[in-house]
Amino acid sequence: SQSVSQLHLLSFPCTLLNTIKISADQELFFFNDVSPGSCFFLPKGAHIYNTLTDFIKSEYRRRGFNEVVTPTLYKTALWERSGHWEHYSENMFTVSGDTDTYALKPMNCPAHCLMFEQRLRSWRELPLRWADFGALHRNELSGALGGLTRVRRFCQDDAHIFCTPEQLEDEILACLDFVRSVYRVFGFSFHCLLSTRPTPSLGEPKLWDHAEKQLERSLEQFGERWELNPGDGAFYGPKIDIQIRDAIGRQHQCATIQLDFQLPIRFDLQYVGEDEKTHRPVMVHRAVLGSLERMIAILAESFGGKWPLWLSPAQVMVIPVGVSCESYAVQVVHQFREAGFMTELDEGVGATLNKKIRSAQLAQYNYIFVVGVKECVSGTVSIRTRGGNQLGQRDTEEVLASLKHLRDTRSNMEDF
Ligand SMILES: [Zn+2]
Repeated sequence: SQSVSQLHLLSFPCTLLNTIKISADQELFFFNDVSPGSCFFLPKGAHIYNTLTDFIKSEYRRRGFNEVVTPTLYKTALWERSGHWEHYSENMFTVSGDTDTYALKPMNCPAHCLMFEQRLRSWRELPLRWADFGALHRNELSGALGGLTRVRRFCQDDAHIFCTPEQLEDEILACLDFVRSVYRVFGFSFHCLLSTRPTPSLGEPKLWDHAEKQLERSLEQFGERWELNPGDGAFYGPKIDIQIRDAIGRQHQCATIQLDFQLPIRFDLQYVGEDEKTHRPVMVHRAVLGSLERMIAILAESFGGKWPLWLSPAQVMVIPVGVSCESYAVQVVHQFREAGFMTELDEGVGATLNKKIRSAQLAQYNYIFVVGVKECVSGTVSIRTRGGNQLGQRDTEEVLASLKHLRDTRSNMEDF
């Protein structure tokens, strides 16, 4: 309703205000007060959401991460064990079951610790890299909720690495490389912040010093700009935060790489080493996109709603000119849909060709194909970009191959 959308307009942080307009114009997502802070992604928004997830999943396969699927509801006993009940319970939603009280998970880490301890682990299995796209719930104060940047239900490209202390430097370096290759695709520049031991903190100071040195060496080897952020680590371990600068010069912090000395102790995690003695693994929490919801808002702003082909929920619009070309137009639509492109047929009657082209451009279709008699007999399409460039009459098969290449390389190029 009108009142609901105005409410969200008011509460939306001004820095990401355009997201609301882009979402409304393109029908990406909305909120409803029946579930405050939880986003409804419409088909086009869900397409962006899933395409981002698929991108990260393909990187996981290349980089030796394995996906796991874990429960959403856990008895409070788990949260007591992890320490969340003591430190974080005011941010958790509880649910009463038959005899027990449960809470919705605000993080995936305790579930992954349970998986680690599920059987005896050997040094030969390490590092274990477990990724989880599970839905998380955090009870943010409703006054603090605004659009996609502060939500109660969200999903992270979350993963935990369990490794030996000797493997830590290489693992951190690989995490940094992962972040860089994803941000390159988005066109973000970035720098890193190394946050060190705060007061108070848990764990041996010697352990902290050693780990901070390892993180420093990984950052040096990585070779990108980094700064020290003294005393700003989490109480359970030092961390590297990655500060991005988007295409329009705004700064955001999304990716994080955090060491955790405490959870392996709380869950008494152990592995059998090469020396046949038991050892404590190092645990790393890391995310590249951070929350999918927030990253979608940042990308919407950064691209100004002009999604690059690979991420776009509106890729190709086919406009037939005259009744005799309609069956050919339908055939082109099928051909591009078959190849996985989000393709629509303009079946509008009455509107002029120019008006149809204009409305497809306003709807941010990356490419508009005009097909008339000339195109129909020669097996071609006449292409315009949404920016108004005329790419001319081209062979349909060649266009299909070019668009596949642009999509599969996640190119930001428009002309081809
Ligand atoms: Zn975690």
